[in-house]
Amino acid sequence: MTSRTQKTSVLLRVLTSLFTPKKVYKTKALSRPRSKPKAKAGNHHNLNELFAELNSKYFDNSLSIPVEWSGSGITESKSVVRLGYYSPRKKLIKISRILDYPHVPKFFVSFILYHEILHHILPPYQVFGSKRKIHHREFKQKEKEFHEYQQSQAFLKDFKKELFAQKKLKTDLPCKTP
Ligand SMILES: [Zn+2]
Repeated sequence: MTSRTQKTSVLLRVLTSLFTPKKVYKTKALSRPRSKPKAKAGNHHNLNELFAELNSKYFDNSLSIPVEWSGSGITESKSVVRLGYYSPRKKLIKISRILDYPHVPKFFVSFILYHEILHHILPPYQVFGSKRKIHHREFKQKEKEFHEYQQSQAFLKDFKKELFAQKKLKTDLPCKTP
């Protein structure tokens, strides 16, 4: 078992305990032949290019955050799908390979990446006596500054339906930040 597999299984266990789905369903819509995915490069979208575009367009080229694809692009046996992830400890963004398909528009991959970048620049906070806020007001305001925000929300809605077409499952899209 590789460390990546171990990490994934830990993550799945954590997610399972968080969301306690009743069953695990296979998602057929996005399955593809089990060819070995490329290590870092995407098949259809280039994360480094997308990051450079966002960095220039919204952040004055001030950011330097490594961006990687994660997972195999196959969604079987998962009840919760994370499209993006930001690790505050490693200062690293991971984008799920299930977005690396031709039917996923470039603006949507950019939106997920933009969302994760916001986790880097607008960390969670906690007001004494209240719950820790991850997607707080400032975060949501800034998120709406993304030029294709409305299209991204519309695509996200359809994409969720596609992913979880078979049963209603608890999802946490686009991300779960620790
Ligand atoms: Zn988030």
